[in-house]
Amino acid sequence: MPSFDLQYARALDARDPLAKFRDEFAIDDADAIYMDGNSLGRLPKRAMARVREVVENEWGKRLVRGWGEGWMDAPARLGGKIAQLLGAQSAEVLVADSTSVNFYKLANAALDARPTRNQIVTETVNFPTDSYILQGIARTRGKTITYAAPQNDVAISMDAIVHAIEKNNCALVTLTHTAFKSGAVYDMRALTQAAHDAGALVLWDLSHSVGSIPLYLNDCNADLAVGCTYKYLNGGPGAPAFLYVRRDLQNELLNPIQGWFGQKNQFAMDFDYAPAQSITRFGVGTPPMLSLLAMETGVDLLLEAGMKNLRAKSIQQSEFLIALWEEWLKPFGVTLNSPRDANVRGSHVSLGHPDGLRIDRALIEEMNVIPDFRPPDNIRFGIAPIYTRYEDVHHAMERMRRVMQEQLYEKYPMERPTVT
Ligand SMILES: *Cc1c(COP(=O)(O)O)cnc(C)c1O
Repeated sequence: MPSFDLQYARALDARDPLAKFRDEFAIDDADAIYMDGNSLGRLPKRAMARVREVVENEWGKRLVRGWGEGWMDAPARLGGKIAQLLGAQSAEVLVADSTSVNFYKLANAALDARPTRNQIVTETVNFPTDSYILQGIARTRGKTITYAAPQNDVAISMDAIVHAIEKNNCALVTLTHTAFKSGAVYDMRALTQAAHDAGALVLWDLSHSVGSIPLYLNDCNADLAVGCTYKYLNGGPGAPAFLYVRRDLQNELLNPIQGWFGQKNQFAMDFDYAPAQSITRFGVGTPPMLSLLAMETGVDLLLEAGMKNLRAKSIQQSEFLIALWEEWLKPFGVTLNSPRDANVRGSHVSLGHPDGLRIDRALIEEMNVIPDFRPPDNIRFGIAPIYTRYEDVHHAMERMRRVMQEQLYEKYPMERPTVT
């Protein structure tokens, strides 16, 4: 049973084996409680040094020679590092494009591999970009999307998805592994098995899973996956995304965007397209090298900290947050919009209230607490155990209690600012 005073939180920080990693991040405002959930991770100090080095020495002095001196290899090399966070082999992961574009590529590649089948199965709480891209694909290719509906935004019914899969007609099942609103996590192994039983391929969006929970793609026999690097990997705004294709599928699937970075002998400059016999075939064009190399520093930090250690701390911090919510915020009608069971919850906790948007604004503008808001009523508190302190969790809940007690949110308008 946790105690609710600040001393308790500080004692947990004092004996936290990961506490030293906080120093690796640029934190200019010591009072700010950064718990964005987690749309943009903090800036690693190493990224500043790395970007300076790449700009001044590599770009500045080596110019075009830089491509032969490490830039060309960087997408696959970095993919190999990210693979360690995914439970995949290094030759199965490539850094390329954005999550949206990678999702488009792999969804189409999967449909091409199942040409006689017409059904795509997903769910209604999927991340918007995934839904939009699927709707476009369904329109242009004449496919049908079946949306499995969960009972509510928290509980995801695996049965509903399994039931939606039409044997002999389903080509692709695609899901956001950790739901972006509630943080609920799907059972990857069971759903992959169910899709395979029906002859379908599965595409996982790992944007809120990578760097937040340990993943076992190979172990679950996962087919395809994509994900962001600017969230829990702390890769920086707009840092390039990654894609995973299981080894035995790589030469069977085709990239629908046949760019020269997927070509077999790229610099032979042949006239006709011949895809590389490796994960490289899922590349398209010239990668954004500054962002890509800056992102590596964030990945390195997570590998040094270790996913098991990070997960253990994330669970302990989330449980602490939930205990404080129950004691301080539940009496004000604030609901827990995330699963209560840590085993099926990612690394953020969503708290709900009809005035959620205004409470979020009061927290940001008056309390120096930065969560984020996802409609209709979710205030997401992201826990990034590599830099979040128990003390931060305590301050966040304590300051939110003040917002509720003093109804500080009442003066804010109902409408939404552009980025929440
Ligand atoms: C953040 C996020 C994205 C973002 O995709 P971009 O192409 O980087 O804009 C996609 N999917 C999920 C599940 C996300 O959480």
